[in-house]
Amino acid sequence: MNLIKDDWFTVEKVDNETYVISEYKHWEETHCYLLNGTTNSLLIDTGLGVKNIKAVVNKFATKPLIVIPTHTHYDHIGGLRYFDNFYIHENEEDWINGNFPLPLDFIKNLLIEEPCEFPLDFNIDDYEIFQGKPTKILKDNDIIELGNRTIQIIHTPGHAPGHICLYEKEKEYLYSGDLIYKGKLTAFFPTSDPKTYKNSIDKVVNLPIKKILPSHFDLDLQTSIIKEIKDAFEQIENDGKLEQGSGLFHYQNFTISI
Ligand SMILES: [Zn+2]
Ligand SMILES: [Zn+2]
Repeated sequence: MNLIKDDWFTVEKVDNETYVISEYKHWEETHCYLLNGTTNSLLIDTGLGVKNIKAVVNKFATKPLIVIPTHTHYDHIGGLRYFDNFYIHENEEDWINGNFPLPLDFIKNLLIEEPCEFPLDFNIDDYEIFQGKPTKILKDNDIIELGNRTIQIIHTPGHAPGHICLYEKEKEYLYSGDLIYKGKLTAFFPTSDPKTYKNSIDKVVNLPIKKILPSHFDLDLQTSIIKEIKDAFEQIENDGKLEQGSGLFHYQNFTISI
């Protein structure tokens, strides 16, 4: 059930203390997650930044907010400018703070790659890549306490060097970022690494997981997709093709682009 559906964001409940905020009008169909705990709320990712996500977050966040992007690609950090503080993994501290490695025109072309009804007050000419100083640097296995909820940081590089998944053991939720979703999984950027991506899948495949909460596309994922992605990477490696530039590998629920 949609709690909000305005001209840009859609908000739905995952459970009584967890919300998903989606940008379905854009071809990337981004999802951000808001987790309410008894001492803090946590926003995972901030979307494209073409409309003020904080106005939506404020409607549902019940405690002081911690903001953590899964990595520093534009579609996850776009809304950071609306918040006072954020945490980022140590491997992408320089990307967010002065040294983003991809040119602005490349990002703008991605943003308008497919036809999209952007909000009326959005102007692509004004779009910038957020830069700012993180309030805290994250490392693998760090714990974020929200009072009654405990979230573990799992460093899962490959798509991007500082990519993290967030794992909530109690609920057996995996907030999978761009590591796992139904669609084109990408390790073709110059800053990606297919071998590391494969290792990151191995890192999460044996966790007890009831629900995968991805950053893009279909929200209704079977948890078996992790094993399917693992098997696919193993096949690609066995065929000697786990090298950047090998191309596209198609499977029933996803495509791997390396
Ligand atoms: Zn990404
Ligand atoms: Zn993404």
